Amino acid sequence: MTKPRKDRQVKSPPFIVFFKPQGIPLVQLEQVILTVDEYEAIRLADWEELKHDEAASKMKISRPTFTRLLNTAHKKISDALVNGKAIRIEGGNYILLYNRFYCQNCNYIWNLKQGQSLPLVCPECGNTNIVNLSLQCGHGRGRKGWRHRGGSF
Ligand SMILES: [Zn+2]
Repeated sequence: MTKPRKDRQVKSPPFIVFFKPQGIPLVQLEQVILTVDEYEAIRLADWEELKHDEAASKMKISRPTFTRLLNTAHKKISDALVNGKAIRIEGGNYILLYNRFYCQNCNYIWNLKQGQSLPLVCPECGNTNIVNLSLQCGHGRGRKGWRHRGGSF
């Protein structure tokens, strides 16, 4: 029996989940899929500049597992940069500590701890035009329109 892969703890989903080289039609582009746990490794090690053991404990994984995850993420991003591929952040083994919301009216972004009830209005402007960013990267069903052209829905 194979050991089930342990979910990696991720603080909150990324705001942007698709990056595309300028000037190349989408249909001609190859894509690199960066998983949400790989994104979190990049965020903790490269953006927040945490040491690997600190970042590993935030994600509830071992330091060697964290280092492997980060190496895979770097390899994928370098593939996109060197070979001119798009990057999509999607899927992976992870659980979110926070859901993240975006107000399309005033651009306000905020986090709510998992388990808290979903907001109906933006806390800044009161508008109801809000998006749950957690749905963009493979948790539950994505909202319509985020999948790339040529996708199957
Ligand atoms: Zn708002």
